[in-house]
Amino acid sequence: MNMNILIANDDGIYSPGIAALAQMALQFGTVRVVAPDVEQSSMGHAITHSRPLTYKKSPINFEGIEAFRVNGTPADCVALGLHMYPDTDVVLSGINMGPNLGNSIWHSGTLAAAKQAVLLGVKGIALSTPVGKTEPNFDTLKPYVEQCLNLLFETNEVALYNVNFPQQPVDIRWTRQSVTLYDGTVYPGEDPMGRKNYWIWVKPLEQAEENSDRWAMEQNYVSITPLRLDLTDERRLKAKSGISG
Ligand code: MN
Repeated sequence: MNMNILIANDDGIYSPGIAALAQMALQFGTVRVVAPDVEQSSMGHAITHSRPLTYKKSPINFEGIEAFRVNGTPADCVALGLHMYPDTDVVLSGINMGPNLGNSIWHSGTLAAAKQAVLLGVKGIALSTPVGKTEPNFDTLKPYVEQCLNLLFETNEVALYNVNFPQQPVDIRWTRQSVTLYDGTVYPGEDPMGRKNYWIWVKPLEQAEENSDRWAMEQNYVSITPLRLDLTDERRLKAKSGISG
């Protein structure tokens, strides 16, 4: 395989996750890295439109790989990266330090980078893994990442995939996005000066549906979810208008 691979993320270019992914991707072809200069997690699909973007060469952690850091969002990095490298065959985003499951797809910057690729006509793959008390062990994940990339590189189809790796994978499963309700909890706190502050966090309210991404991760399976960009509610549209999809 000799593909032109563009790698972005939302944890920022100095994250160990993107360095590990770039190394793993080298066996599949030419790797280029264009990633945010600071962490942009949970920025969703934000695009910078009120100021110009710039990039700088960023060789730290990327020996022998062209790598650039950008003063923008994950989606900016993919737009700029595809402008710099129009021969790109696939965009990889990650490996994110933290899972991206179920409804977190709505605010994930990792997913947004992969989505931006698909919007521009290029295959996009998001890769994430949970972080426990210690850093993820990328050597343990390596054979599973390679297996997934082999699987997802098989066809040239422009498609969007969300891949999550448990810390100790046992196998790989195709899954659907979990859509059970979730709680966007606000945790109030206080700073040392006595001023009020708030942490926003989310947690699922219901059990994971069988064969969903959350379910797979609970069973220590690598979860691959094929996603689409068309959010149209086909059932409701058909009921209201008679138009079917
Ligand atoms: Mn992140």
